[in-house]
Amino acid sequence: MGAFILYCSICYKLITDYNCYATDNLVNIVIVFTQITDNYYFSSHKSTFLMKLLENKIALITGASRGIGEAIAIKFAEHGANVAFTYLSSDEKAQALEAKLKAYGVNAKAYKSNAGDYAASEQLANDVLKDFGTIDICVNNAGISKDNLLLRLTPEQWDDVIQANLKSVYNLTRQVIKPMMKARSGSIINMSSIVGVEGNGGQSSYAASKAGIIGFTKSIAQELGSRNIRCNAIAPGFIETDMTHYLKDGGAEKWFEKIPMARFGKPEEVANVALFLACDMSSYVSGQVINTCGAMST
Ligand code: NAP
Repeated sequence: MGAFILYCSICYKLITDYNCYATDNLVNIVIVFTQITDNYYFSSHKSTFLMKLLENKIALITGASRGIGEAIAIKFAEHGANVAFTYLSSDEKAQALEAKLKAYGVNAKAYKSNAGDYAASEQLANDVLKDFGTIDICVNNAGISKDNLLLRLTPEQWDDVIQANLKSVYNLTRQVIKPMMKARSGSIINMSSIVGVEGNGGQSSYAASKAGIIGFTKSIAQELGSRNIRCNAIAPGFIETDMTHYLKDGGAEKWFEKIPMARFGKPEEVANVALFLACDMSSYVSGQVINTCGAMST
């Protein structure tokens, strides 16, 4: 299978990039073969050929010690990106992830940094720029939920969620656009939620924060499109992480009735969407919200 994909890629590249067909000389074929195999690697984890889509890119991901952020960090490293990532309190998990990412042969570093704190975000961006040189991709993923019916929702709970989920996106985006504007290139990916698109009773603070992210995302896409900086949001449905673990307490099946695909999503399935938005395959996609929810919202 790997050989077949490689063969198809060679033919495609020969025709598109070099405008030469099978009858052209052997030298061309050898040159292109060398270039393409440079972009592939044999993954010891999966025993498959993989085309690297983020080779030498620098990615900064918030909240990657667990769940969706961790899956994105692994996916990006697998595709050749150097990964800086943050967490709030999971020191051991963060250290373990840093080692795991480095095993892909990329540079990786964990930073303990509160995404909701503006000064901390400024410090983080400066540290990453010092350590990695630039920032090509930023994934604003860190988030929390403190669900309650509105009558019981305290001002502190409201503020905590808005600060961690929405202000955090402003905090870091304001920093990363500086190197991106200089480079005239960048991809910003903000983790919204299907709840931000549709609303959900008992989650008003979370829904407001995630809907706010969508408005912010579209505005930044318009503001910075002329600088070739793209900004998109992902709106996951129910994804199997610590955040949704409690939903399974009363049996997961009752939730499946709301999901046409009748299952929760996996963090890797969100990471695949993030990979698409981070790489050049989405070079003309900006200001969009990509629902990743098993058709819960259509
Ligand atoms: P999770 O498993 O609870 O992981 C949350 C991650 O964010 C952890 O790495 C945590 O770090 C970090 N974090 C939390 N607050 C932070 C802060 N103030 N500063 C820095 N890092 C912070 O959550 P998840 O399910 O992967 O969710 C990731 C994102 O996807 C969130 O924005 C969430 O709202 C969104 N989302 C999730 C779902 C879902 O079904 N799971 C659906 C839609 C959207 P520590 O480990 O150090 O605490």
